Amino acid sequence: MSLLQAPPHCAGLYVHVPFCLQKCPYCNFYSRPAQSGDFECFTEALLAHLAILVHNPLVQNLRFTTIFFGGGTPSVLPTPLLVQILRACQATLNCSGCTEISIEVNPGTIAANSDSLHALFQAGFNRLSVGVQSFLDHELKLLGRTHSADEARMTLATARKAGFSNISLDLMYGLPGQQLRDWQASLEQALVLAPEHLSLYELTPEAPSPFYDAAKDGTLALPPEEEVLAMMDYTKALLTRTGLARYEISNYAQPAYQCRHNLNYWHNGSYLGLGPGAVSAIGGRRYRIPQGLRRYYYLVTSDIPPWQAEEMLDVEQSFRETVIMGLRMMQGVSAAELFARYQINLATYYGPVLDQLLAQELLHWQGEYLALSPKGLPLANQVMAELV
Ligand code: SF4
Repeated sequence: MSLLQAPPHCAGLYVHVPFCLQKCPYCNFYSRPAQSGDFECFTEALLAHLAILVHNPLVQNLRFTTIFFGGGTPSVLPTPLLVQILRACQATLNCSGCTEISIEVNPGTIAANSDSLHALFQAGFNRLSVGVQSFLDHELKLLGRTHSADEARMTLATARKAGFSNISLDLMYGLPGQQLRDWQASLEQALVLAPEHLSLYELTPEAPSPFYDAAKDGTLALPPEEEVLAMMDYTKALLTRTGLARYEISNYAQPAYQCRHNLNYWHNGSYLGLGPGAVSAIGGRRYRIPQGLRRYYYLVTSDIPPWQAEEMLDVEQSFRETVIMGLRMMQGVSAAELFARYQINLATYYGPVLDQLLAQELLHWQGEYLALSPKGLPLANQVMAELV
């Protein structure tokens, strides 16, 4: 079966804004502080890229049901430019039926800026993802964040007044020097603000970043494994008592507030990425735009499609990716849906490897869904490594 034969389908649209106020020492995403003229250059490039895509039949065949402005820190971009880009996306691409338009914001850029949040809401953004990370100021300082806990609280209050009723908070645990009681304080503070969604990530220093170098040198005092496990246990116990249900390894939501854009990734669906460094997956192929704003600008304003690397996934690679991504979700992956999509039988394909993981009670069947078990959840990476 050729994946290119897939019928026209729904997709997510991702806009990568590669600017941040300053680089956090744990971050290896493609982003950097903006220089003079960058914002205008970025906006012009995005609009030129969209003009090229008008002639791309693969993209014109997609219907975008979610839009996500991520980064980087999209909220460093002046609000009128964000609105201009959103409008251009909606005018150029088929966004009919788009129900979720998210934007990541940093409290350091937007805390008391009610005009900005109001304008974003009026323009159609209906979901905010707020990069809080911690409600303890000393932890925020350690993480190189530019905002305070008070600014995070203020952002929430301002966003509510602007009309946002779908707000997600990002928090991190397993921070250097962090103890269980510190994590408890941050998590409890987050719940006081009654977010509709929480993303809770363990700090794992990735290369290249100063934290990664420090971890390698042994100078980054990460908490011991048992402390981190205690934080996970506490999270599970506390959130079970709230309306926030865990639906993915790191994500919790009130009913009907799961992030639809990310659900599409976890279902290994199609998506289009705009902006330097963005990745797209369409019709069984993966496309990468090179990093570097000036290069992106040059390509798209010269009418050259900026996709410079292309990878064709064969059916088995795509099948395995769909299994791995799907296991991130608490519901797991449906053997029937996998068979309908790939004509591959999940149990037969993995055979003894799967039998072993089931016997170890790291995976379990929930009807026709294969999912990580409670015992397998904290060991998700090891389990998935067996199935890659
Ligand atoms: S704000 Fe986010 S994207 Fe920017 S440097 Fe910090 S962690 Fe990375």
